Amino acid sequence: MKYFGAHVSAAGGVGKAPERAHQIGAGAFGLFTKNQRQWHAPALSQAAVDEFRAECERFGYANGQILPHDSYLINLGHPEEAELSKSREAFTDEMARCQQLGIDRLNFHPGATLGGISVDECLARIAESINIALEATEGVTAVIENTAGQGSGVGNRFEHLAQIIDGVEDKSRVGVCLDTCHTFAAGYDLSTAAACEATFAEFERVVGFRWLRGMHLNDALRPEGSHVDRHASLGEGFLGWECFRYIARDARFDGMPLILETPDESRWPSEIAALKELA
Ligand SMILES: [Zn+2]
Ligand SMILES: [Zn+2]
Repeated sequence: MKYFGAHVSAAGGVGKAPERAHQIGAGAFGLFTKNQRQWHAPALSQAAVDEFRAECERFGYANGQILPHDSYLINLGHPEEAELSKSREAFTDEMARCQQLGIDRLNFHPGATLGGISVDECLARIAESINIALEATEGVTAVIENTAGQGSGVGNRFEHLAQIIDGVEDKSRVGVCLDTCHTFAAGYDLSTAAACEATFAEFERVVGFRWLRGMHLNDALRPEGSHVDRHASLGEGFLGWECFRYIARDARFDGMPLILETPDESRWPSEIAALKELA
């Protein structure tokens, strides 16, 4: 079963997200459980948690169909101790919010060296940050998203994902999310069925599909290897429909959230319908 959806707004409270997903015909959804541009957020009230659970139930969204995203401010590989601690605290809080909401996974961008430490040191810090968050929470998997490799960000190479997983103690609660735009921008071709075959074979060899907990489906506004993270609507970028046809028809992407983060929200219903058609 393929769960196609989009990253929907949680404006007005997390409990509003499931209905928004339902309205666009989504079988899955992404959301922020707090304002993604602020460090602090008020704790979730029991009423907010109850509303979220009830709405998920009403519209038929269970675990495997929900992929929250953490704040953009968090850098789990920060080179400076004080800033690293702040990020670790915020990330642990986000994991705890997911636990409260009964969501089984949290997607996050791994981090950036900011030119202050080596890539290896940054990856080691990220793994330790995950260990700290897993220690403090229960039942939530930390899902590392691959990146475009923009600026000093790490996580653009499959090897980076494997190295982070290697440093995580509780392997039952770590996973990865591949973003098609990031993968392509990082230099892995996905623009034809043959290219998808080769790139996903490399992913299987270096990381392994057993760690895959979700996908972000975005076309790419910039060419392969650009290292620029700019999403395009499906079929409107350098990837084209071939990539999404491949994923829609491949059983290795079954049973997990497949989330659009494409720029034009008004197209989400038709993008989701087209993906379902392909599957
Ligand atoms: Zn993404
Ligand atoms: Zn992106």
